[in-house]
Amino acid sequence: MYLKSLEIQGFKSFADKIVLNFNSGLTSVVGPNGSGKSNIADAVRWVLGEQSAKTLRGSRMEDVIFSGTQHRKPVGFASVSLVIDNSDRTLPIDFSEVTITRRMYRSGESEYAINKTPCRLKDITELFMNTGVGREGYSIIGQGRIDEILSARSEERRQVFEEAAGITKYKARKREAERK
Ligand code: ATP
Ligand code: MG
Repeated sequence: MYLKSLEIQGFKSFADKIVLNFNSGLTSVVGPNGSGKSNIADAVRWVLGEQSAKTLRGSRMEDVIFSGTQHRKPVGFASVSLVIDNSDRTLPIDFSEVTITRRMYRSGESEYAINKTPCRLKDITELFMNTGVGREGYSIIGQGRIDEILSARSEERRQVFEEAAGITKYKARKREAERK
């Protein structure tokens, strides 16, 4: 499984639709300060369901919608689609390509979709559970995260290992069953 491409429209500094294609190897994003490098990482977190505006370096969730510049009017919605190559069927879904989409309007409601079929955030979270991908997964290591893991309490650190060992999903299901 690898990240194949990312389509961003109306999200943070990306007013127009842009498509970034990645290969299975290593990709670095370079550019001057303020050119939008971190916004790309934010887009990945956001489409995977990030709910914290602060984690996305804003104060309200609406801050992710392109807010205009001197020469350009604000836009009405933000949309990000992330395409994953799933030829190896790492994701438990029978498609070799999986597209996850999130769209949000200024009213605040987010819509999610898997392969263009509307779904709940929960479906996306479950799809990525045990794979290390996802907003809590270890495949996105933000600045300061390594320090955080090293200095975390042992129970918190255990969660990282549980995700890597592939038992997060079963624990979540157990919790849900116990609640019913
Ligand atoms: P650095 O090298 O300093 O880390 P960077 O390339 O990571 O820079 P980003 O933080 O990704 O830069 O981008 C910051 C830019 O995004 C700023 O110019 C900011 O005005 C713009 N930006 C953020 N949110 C929005 C928004 N909602 N609408 C328009 N522009 C936005
Ligand atoms: Mg940055």
